[in-house]
Order: sequence, then structure tokens, then C-alpha cells
Amino acid sequence: MTSPDNEPGMVLFTLVCPECGVANPDNSLNCMVCDRDLTNIVLFLEDDSFDLELTDEFLIEYRKNFWGTERTGKVIKYPLSEISNIEYGSPITRFKFDYNGERLVIPLKKENMEVLKEVLPNIIDG
Ligand SMILES: [Zn+2]
Repeated sequence: MTSPDNEPGMVLFTLVCPECGVANPDNSLNCMVCDRDLTNIVLFLEDDSFDLELTDEFLIEYRKNFWGTERTGKVIKYPLSEISNIEYGSPITRFKFDYNGERLVIPLKKENMEVLKEVLPNIIDG
């Protein structure tokens, strides 16, 4: 479905720290502000009502308040090994999957959905 080679000019993520939101230089191992380990972050997406982080093993949702201005402190970690039946809704961009016996639906911005759709299958099948 997708080509195995990554396009060389295509940068899929920047090193924004998922914990504190600070942008770090590309090759950073730890966040310069909060010292969080940045080596296992595959993807970080900022959306309207949450930030979404993808690592090799987890999809992590950092909930934001109604206005999307700050985080509520609620963090939900979905182990990728327990996610199944992934669907990328279109034209209404809803990311759907089965987890823990439930069907979860996460509304994503279109541009975030495109990136996730590109990256996630590589992690899960890999
Ligand atoms: Zn940080």
C-alpha cells in the first residue's frame, strides 16, 4: 500500500517535547527544559482538544481544555499492541479503533490524520 522507502525530503515530525511543548533540536536525546526522554517519540501532533504522541509502543493522548489552550492533566495511554481494527475516517476525519472492548473515535484535524495514516501502519506492522 505504501512505499517502503521514506521520501528523503519529507520530515514527519519535529522534536516538540510532548511533556512541556518546547521545541528541541532534531538530535536531542532529552528535552532541554523538562529532561524528558525524547528518543522514543515517533510522532507528535497538536490537535484542537488534545495533543497526540506516538512512540514505538504507545499512542498517548494529552487532553486539553475546551478552548484547546492548555492541558487538563488527563493523559491516556493506549498500548499499540492492544489497538485493532484501525479506521481512518473520511471525509470527516475521525480516527477509530478498538481498544479494551470498546470502539474509540478520536476527531483529528485533516493534516494530523494524514500524517498519522502515513506513519502508524509502519509502527504497528513493523
Ligand atoms: Zn519538555
